[in-house]
Amino acid sequence: MTIAEDTRVPPCAEKPEAYLDERFQSPTVRTDVTLAEWEDLKQQRADVHRYCAGCPLLVDCLYRAVVEVDVYGYAACTTEADRRLIRRKLGIEIFQPSDSPFSAPRTGAGPIDHESVLALRQTYPTETCIQLAQRLGCSASTVKRHLRRARETQERLAPMQRRTPTVEEVLDCFDELESSRGA
Ligand code: SF4
Repeated sequence: MTIAEDTRVPPCAEKPEAYLDERFQSPTVRTDVTLAEWEDLKQQRADVHRYCAGCPLLVDCLYRAVVEVDVYGYAACTTEADRRLIRRKLGIEIFQPSDSPFSAPRTGAGPIDHESVLALRQTYPTETCIQLAQRLGCSASTVKRHLRRARETQERLAPMQRRTPTVEEVLDCFDELESSRGA
């Protein structure tokens, strides 16, 4: 018997720019943008949601993005905020060593290593996020996001116990998300 291998490329690899849109990361509110931009964002989110919902890797991808690798951008029908919420519900935190092959989160302008942002902050403690962003060649909101994540991690790490949730637990939390509707 011959086993047919699925060689299709997942939609996120075919259209990476749609998944890495910064507007998904620093939550855009309606009043910050024009109606046309808002409609464009809604459409783009609906598109990537639909692509992920039809992806055969959805369950694996969701589990890895929630439990194993803190990826940047939209993944498995979730934004980074969605995945943080799921982790909070599960009571877990990703411990991602800086030498992990996955340690460079995805970014629209190329990989910005979380550790590099923190190291630069330590080297230039008085510089603004804009100045740090210029040194890194990324946006100020990317720098702010990394610094916020470091702060939040530090606050949570002490009482947090490491545990590995099951796929079912992750899926249950995912099902409770507003953004999972229709997936
Ligand atoms: S489910 Fe994961 S692998 Fe599939 S398109 Fe979405 S982000 Fe890509």
